[in-house]
Amino acid sequence: MADIIDQAMEEFEHHLNAAIANRAKPVPPSLICKNGDCGQPSLNGTRYCSCECREDHEKEVWSIKNRKISR
Ligand SMILES: [Zn+2]
Repeated sequence: MADIIDQAMEEFEHHLNAAIANRAKPVPPSLICKNGDCGQPSLNGTRYCSCECREDHEKEVWSIKNRKISR
């Protein structure tokens, strides 16, 4: 049983480190909202027109990255 837990912890740390590495990358602001087909002008110095769009897009990006990692 301990082996399984160790393995799970290792995998968890791997995902965590990958998430931190992805987060640390500086992202340049965009003039247009980056959320899918929104197309609204984004708020000054951000990449999104609203908090909702930012959360939506971050969830999407996160799920894409997670699919790549788990392969
Ligand atoms: Zn938007």
